[in-house]
Order: sequence, then structure tokens, then C-alpha cells
Amino acid sequence: MKIGFIGLGNMGGPMAANLAKAGHEVTGFDTADVEIEGVAKAGSATEVASGAQVVITMLPNGAILRAVADEIIPAMEKGAVFLDCSTVDVESARVVAEQAQAAGLEPLDAPVSGGVTGAAAGTLTFMVGGSDMGFAAVKELFDVMGQKAVLCGPSGNGQAAKICNNMILGVTMIATCEAFALADKLGLDRQAMFDVVSTSSGYSWSMNAYCPAPGIGPKSPADNGYQPGFAAELMLKDLRLAQQAAEAADADTPMGQAARDLYAQFVENEDGSGRDFSAMLPRFETRSRG
Ligand code: NAD
Repeated sequence: MKIGFIGLGNMGGPMAANLAKAGHEVTGFDTADVEIEGVAKAGSATEVASGAQVVITMLPNGAILRAVADEIIPAMEKGAVFLDCSTVDVESARVVAEQAQAAGLEPLDAPVSGGVTGAAAGTLTFMVGGSDMGFAAVKELFDVMGQKAVLCGPSGNGQAAKICNNMILGVTMIATCEAFALADKLGLDRQAMFDVVSTSSGYSWSMNAYCPAPGIGPKSPADNGYQPGFAAELMLKDLRLAQQAAEAADADTPMGQAARDLYAQFVENEDGSGRDFSAMLPRFETRSRG
């Protein structure tokens, strides 16, 4: 396929490289000067968009996505797929989709989970909003870049699935870290705590697959000095998007709100920026009930 790729950063770079490696004709553009193996470099987003069967965007936020969409939609061929894989607010995803549809394009919002490791390995999970037809048209690209793609309903539903998932993740990580810090103060051995919880009703991905306590459970960023992994500031971004969506939809999400506030405090006032999101555990260790 003839693919245009806009946003060749930590995620977009390896995703574009995997598509090129699989034999697709990929042209890329990024405002930073980056070279990606197998990807032809274009001078502008418009140049990438014209003539492409599929344009993929992997950009930092909704405002940038909207600006890029305004620029590329008029340049895209009718019937082409506009596949946005960035994590953005549900509202921006729906506005861009409407604009693309009005121009005769097939829009899909398809945020991912799996991080930079998954992007490099081609094992991402895609949560997709859009039509059956659009999904089918790019299914083979999802299969190159990832291991799973789920069609979640109409435009915006991919972003909705992503922020609901990550709201659960933020809340369970905090709960797991709190519980370890409490167990320490109660004299409960961390390995014993893990052995019980990971096989009892308190289990979760945060405990079982990404244990925040070093030396316990499978290898995780805790075993690497809390180098990310999934950085605390990216978790904060997703928790903010979840609260923005909850406010717009009038949904009561007190735990999601508390998680957002705690990650904001951690990232902005407690040197959490640049650390993995599981570094909430050393944060709790140093604190008392106050
Ligand atoms: P990044 O900052 O490494 O990459 C974004 C790229 O977009 C940068 O290279 C930047 O130069 C480029 N860019 C910015 N404005 C542009 C424009 N107008 N035109 C063209 N290029 C432009 O970020 P990332 O980690 O690759 O994340 C990309 C998206 O994926 C974000 O929405 C993020 O929330 C999401 N995401 C990231 C991860 C992760 O672990 N990094 C995991 C899941 C989802």
C-alpha cells in the first residue's frame, strides 16, 4: 500500500519502519528532522498526504492533530483512509472524523497500548473507532504494527476505550503501590504480599504483570530504577483526557479524578517527571499519613 506517515517520534518512528519492512511504500513527515529506515522523507504533511491510500498520524495531542487535519484533508484522495493512532481527546477525534468524512475520506481513530517496546516489536493493541469498511481496509496494517485490533464502534470510540482502560490502570497502580507501602509498615514481607495478592481477588495487571516493587514478580521498570516504561507524565496525560471526557459526558468518576490529582502532584511537584508511573511506590514509601 502507499502510506503517508505523519509524526515519526518514539512511537511513530518504529511503526513506520515496520510498515516499510513489510513491503509497504511509506513516505514520512515530522517537524523534527528524523530519518527512519525504509521511509522516504517528505518536506511537508501535505506532500505526504497527496496520493496516499492511507495517511497515518501519530502526534502528541488533539490540538496538533486538528491543525494537521486542516492541512492534509484537502490534499487527500477521495476514498483514502485517515488513520489517527495518537492518543487525543474524544472530542477532537470526533471533530476530525466528521471533517474527513465530509471530504469523502474514511476516518479511523485507533489509539494504541503497548508503548515503545510494542511499537518496535510490532505487538501493539489498537482500539479502533470508525466504520467496518475503514477497519477492513487497513486490517493488514494493524497486523503488521500490532498483535490485536478491536473495532469499538463509531468514530471516537477508540479514544473512549483507551482512556477508560488507562483510567483503570492509573487507579489500580496507585492502589497497588498504596497497599505495598501499608504492608511494609505492617511488617508484611513484599514477596508474601505478592504471592497472596497476585493469586487473590486484589490481583490486577499492575500487580501481576508490572509489579511496582523491585525484585518481586516479573521483570518491570521497578527492577530498572523506575526508568520508563510508561512515564508518569504520559499516565497524567491520559488521566486528564479521561476527566475531560467525564466532565463532557457528565459521568461521576471520583477514583479517576483522585488518580489524576495524585499523578499531577507527582509529576509537577515531586520530581515524578521522567520516572515510570509505577514509581508511585517509592513516593508512598517516603510519606506518612500526615
Ligand atoms: P513523541 O513526542 O516521541 O512523537 C510525536 C512526534 O510528532 C514528534 O517527533 C514531533 O516532532 C512530531 N510532531 C509534532 N507536531 C507535528 C506536526 N505538526 N507535524 C508533524 N510532526 C509533528 O511522542 P510518542 O511517544 O511517539 O507519542 C505519540 C502519541 O502516541 C501520543 O499521542 C501519545 O500519547 C501516544 N502514546 C504513546 C505511548 C508511549 O509509550 N510513548 C504509548 C501509547 C500511546
